[in-house]
Amino acid sequence: AASITVKGLTKAYDPQTVVIPPMDVELKAGEFTVVLGPSGCGKSTLLQMIAGLERVSGGKILIGAREVQDLEPKHRGCAMVFQNYALYPHMSVFENMAYSLKVAGMAKAERAERVAAVAKMLGLADYLHRKPGQLSGGQRQRVAIGRAIVREPGVLLFDEPLSNLDAQLRHDMRVELADLHRRIGATTVFVTHDQVEAMTLADRILILNKGRIEQFDTPKAIYHHP
Ligand code: ADP
Ligand code: ADP
Repeated sequence: AASITVKGLTKAYDPQTVVIPPMDVELKAGEFTVVLGPSGCGKSTLLQMIAGLERVSGGKILIGAREVQDLEPKHRGCAMVFQNYALYPHMSVFENMAYSLKVAGMAKAERAERVAAVAKMLGLADYLHRKPGQLSGGQRQRVAIGRAIVREPGVLLFDEPLSNLDAQLRHDMRVELADLHRRIGATTVFVTHDQVEAMTLADRILILNKGRIEQFDTPKAIYHHP
């Protein structure tokens, strides 16, 4: 796992619309940070910039000691899970999870072993031959998570991954994600507007309002005032 350092970061999609005024924060290696805030406050923008998918307007973001924008995508060590899963519909569950390993040049036997281990961890072992269209919503989300963790990224990014699931499944997936984090220990940034997710998953909660950090502290410090 690697730390994420945000230094003097600014973002404006156009000069009139400043989405993030100068921001400084350090997310420690291995910590689970939940970014919480109302719609439009800049959560996704921040996540996309950490992933290197959106340019910064000023300042910088470091993963470990390296600046994100200087790194080739495959060397960033970041994996992202999206709200809409973004699975490859024509590929089986196995192929969805193995694809990035194949692109990275991993040998076939090792790929199969790695995918099998992750599928087992996520309860997908019996579904490896299915296509995404033959899965329930919860299973699709597990495949999306499996696809992200199979490369053993140092940084794991989640953009409202549970908001398309029903209440029971959201609860179950929260428990699973907490367990997964304990096992793999990747530095995690999890964007949501759900306070329950923030309280149950976070080592630290980062509350954003109009792109500014209003609070950055443990759930205990934020929700249990003396
Ligand atoms: P959140 O994830 O908290 O809902 P976003 O990061 O998606 O917020 O958006 C923050 C602000 O930036 C919003 O005002 C949004 O309209 C604007 N924005 C997001 N993406 C773009 C874009 N590609 N071009 C212009 N404005 C954008
Ligand atoms: P949920 O009610 O949880 O959304 P579904 O009723 O869609 O789930 O699916 C229940 C089970 O049937 C799941 O194990 C799912 O993988 C399987 N399933 C759903 N659709 C298909 C299909 N078209 N072909 C094979 N299995 C399917």
